[in-house]
Amino acid sequence: MAALARLFKTQFPFLLRRSLSTTTTTATVSEIQPQRQRPNSSILFPLTDDPKGSRNFQWVFLGCPGVGKGTYAGRLSSLLGVPHIATGDLVREELSSSGPLSHQLEEIVNQGKLVSDEIIFNLLSKRLEAGESKGESGFILDGFPRTIRQSEILDEATEIDLVINLKLREDVLIEKCLGRRICSECGKSFNLASINAKAENGYPEITMAPLLPPPQCSSKLITRADDTEPVVRERLRIYKEQSEPVEDYYRKQGKLMEFDLPGGIPESWPKLLEALNLDDYGDKRSAAA
Ligand code: ADP
Repeated sequence: MAALARLFKTQFPFLLRRSLSTTTTTATVSEIQPQRQRPNSSILFPLTDDPKGSRNFQWVFLGCPGVGKGTYAGRLSSLLGVPHIATGDLVREELSSSGPLSHQLEEIVNQGKLVSDEIIFNLLSKRLEAGESKGESGFILDGFPRTIRQSEILDEATEIDLVINLKLREDVLIEKCLGRRICSECGKSFNLASINAKAENGYPEITMAPLLPPPQCSSKLITRADDTEPVVRERLRIYKEQSEPVEDYYRKQGKLMEFDLPGGIPESWPKLLEALNLDDYGDKRSAAA
């Protein structure tokens, strides 16, 4: 992790130039990083198939806005004892500070656009360095990488063990984003939406109960400025354009685990643990809740 932070910080201009000079077709990607074709079953779970010796897990969460990357990455982080690093949170922290970048970031984020790679790598290396000084190792990344170029730079810096791709139908994603609320005091995320989406267009019916705040948070709820319908639709468009190719990038490396969310947290969390071969971590589950 120390090496990763240093590499992002000192080598970023070099790595970026190198990835810019490389076309990003899938054929080229496979030349840069030899494909590790593993059968699907061996993706199931790196705890028993430890390719990395003594270092901690280095996982990535992919998925559209509102799918629940933060929720499930946060739970796995508590369960496995590795830090959950969400670039969206790093961007929002910088935005709410009075730092020099905050105005520039506000405009980009509130339009649903992606922040420049340079800013993201700077925020990420600062976060990794802070973690290193606290003795952290490994990571569960959420919201990064979000473009092929970011994935290539990450691959130059370190090896990713597993990529979990969370999936939900688009109408539900929009409802979830619009229902999302955050407690301005403790930072916890809640959802006021009660979702009852009928089976249609080949999608099964899906129901999700609201995730309501406790009384101490309910008067302090705020909505993210980018959780309005037009901005959510723009974020989904940008995800399809820039981030969906990242799914294919990792699929070709044999590292992608697809996970269709069957419902809300009570239905999805045990199934996710099962897919990850972590379901015998029963008593730790409640600790992560
Ligand atoms: P989402 O709910 O859309 O997944 P996030 O909380 O991950 O949103 O990110 C919020 C915003 O922060 C993004 O819309 C984007 O402007 C910026 N951002 C976060 N991560 C990245 C990244 N890896 N590259 C570029 N911009 C990013």
